[in-house]
Amino acid sequence: MTPTDPDLSPLRDVIERHGLIARKALGQNFLLDINLTRRIARASGPLDAVTVVEVGPGPGGLTRALLLEGAKRVVAIEKDRRCIAALAELAEAFPGRLTVIEGDATQTDIAALINGPARIVANLPYNVSTVLLAGWLGGRDWPPWWESLTLMFQREVAERIVAGPGSKTYGRLSILSQWRSRPQILFDVDRRAFTPPPKITSSIVRIVPAEMPAGVDPGLLERVTAAAFGQRRKMLRSSLKSLSPDAEGLLTRAGIDPTRRAEDIPVDGFLALTRCFSETPSSGAS
Ligand code: SAM
Repeated sequence: MTPTDPDLSPLRDVIERHGLIARKALGQNFLLDINLTRRIARASGPLDAVTVVEVGPGPGGLTRALLLEGAKRVVAIEKDRRCIAALAELAEAFPGRLTVIEGDATQTDIAALINGPARIVANLPYNVSTVLLAGWLGGRDWPPWWESLTLMFQREVAERIVAGPGSKTYGRLSILSQWRSRPQILFDVDRRAFTPPPKITSSIVRIVPAEMPAGVDPGLLERVTAAAFGQRRKMLRSSLKSLSPDAEGLLTRAGIDPTRRAEDIPVDGFLALTRCFSETPSSGAS
């Protein structure tokens, strides 16, 4: 704490005073250790010139860490009405720096709430974490409205995000996360750091946008990877039949051996495949 930091009630007291018993249906596993939440906040880089978007602030553990680490402004979206009064106390302690929005982040146009540079930092509710990630990574506009994502995932999801070809965990999520972004696992968080503790270890993942490869339509890439990994044990000449009557010709034009399986094809291979697919009538691309 610096001499100017406000005097905040311990988080356990906040939880007790507001009756915030964790609800499983909302993916509620709270972080109470301020050293850990400040480490997560710092992992997203200097915050004094950006707006931080936090999904699921809950009782405000990570939120207070972001504010204490100097975030210029935090916009926090929370679905659980019970948390709003606790977050209002925090907003009062950091005048003009915290905006709390009661709502479902999967149904909220977050970009419309932001002015200027923004980063997303969140201990995500596990039940909607991949839906939210797909929304942030899947847009047509690139670079996106956010500068970076610093997110907590279950370790198993984090491994899928960074997996490379040949790995059992390599799949649609890996390609979505890597074709025009750079994801990295920063550190693991032990299950015992959460209240209540989940069954498994979690990891903090940081993702920054990279250049968008030319000639690749995000929607078509999604269709290609969905077909390829929908039947991941099959050879591509068979799994891609749902995409094109001449799957073998499509693969050959993309420079891919038609007898190979999706899990062995690097991201560049899927990009080449998508470019060739966009030239076929069945893609519907003009
Ligand atoms: N940020 C807090 C922390 O680190 O202790 C809480 C994290 S907890 C894993 C996930 C939070 O997301 C909960 O507060 C939960 O109520 C909230 N949540 C769940 N689904 C949500 C949704 N669709 N939109 C916004 N918030 C949601």
